[in-house]
Amino acid sequence: MTARVGLIGHPLDHSISPAFQQAAFDAVGIDARYEAWDLPPEQLEDFIAGLRRPDALGANVTIPYKEAALHHVDRLHETARFVGAINTIVNEGGHLAGYNTDVAGFQAALKDAGVETRGANVVIWGAGGAARAVAWALIWRGVNGITVINRTPVRAGRLRHDIAAAITGGKPQGVRLRAYAADHPDAIEALRLCDIVVNCTPIGMQRSAATPDQSAPETPFPVDPLSAGALVIDLIANPLQTPLMRQATTAGHRVLGGLPMLVHQGAASFELWTRRAPPMATMNSAAQTAMQAMQPIQDAP
Ligand code: NAP
Repeated sequence: MTARVGLIGHPLDHSISPAFQQAAFDAVGIDARYEAWDLPPEQLEDFIAGLRRPDALGANVTIPYKEAALHHVDRLHETARFVGAINTIVNEGGHLAGYNTDVAGFQAALKDAGVETRGANVVIWGAGGAARAVAWALIWRGVNGITVINRTPVRAGRLRHDIAAAITGGKPQGVRLRAYAADHPDAIEALRLCDIVVNCTPIGMQRSAATPDQSAPETPFPVDPLSAGALVIDLIANPLQTPLMRQATTAGHRVLGGLPMLVHQGAASFELWTRRAPPMATMNSAAQTAMQAMQPIQDAP
């Protein structure tokens, strides 16, 4: 029996996960088919319920269902509970477990790139699901301070509050936490003082007819205030070089894009479904090939 597994989201036209996940199953010789499951919201609950069937391994979950999907599984891993979003569902004998492998994916990408975070002051630009995963990853990597900056200040404040609650709940101590609205003068000051800034917004993604926000600026924040040694991380995987990454490189900063995190979070999901070591070389090369094969995406008329 061919096992079923796939990616739940909408839209899925930019996703390279099916390419590198299928390559991984083929490489280790598991008879499974990884599909793209582009669903309207009204089908989400029933579709996830169907993952309890014996032929289903589980699923990945992406925008916009990472938070909604959390309510349709039977149990949550601790990290998923903190992040408040799941990107992986595992069918454990008819019971669905929800995980968030974005945290491990971000940590592994930092490790591969040799990024030292101990004692660092980090700006997280954005306060959605990805920002929450990045925050959780960073507090476990010994950062000195986290400043959350977001267009909608109440969401930035909520993330700061949740990190503080996790810390006082026995997690790593001594992290300095701040939160600002993106248009607050202290947001620019935080950029001036930071060692690392992480873009956790979709600003700079390939635009298409399916990506409605055509009025968004090219970059989420200016690079001029950053100090000379600051590292700029963009979680966006498509395109490989975002406008932010281009501007930061031109200004002499070290940059890290989102593709390594994307492959690592997928590899962690693969391991949860199969209990097998993910074939990283195969997954990386399939991801690179899929990116190269992707047609340039046109702006909507
Ligand atoms: P999300 O939960 O929808 O959050 C989006 C965040 O971006 C919010 O803070 C939102 O601010 C902000 N934002 C959106 N449009 C904006 C605009 N036009 N101007 C200013 N701020 C804007 O999304 P997410 O799941 O966190 O994902 C965010 C990005 O991370 C996406 O590009 C996604 O592809 C990427 N990501 C990459 C990986 C990877 O493996 N590389 C993994 C996860 C996510 P408001 O609160 O004001 O709405």
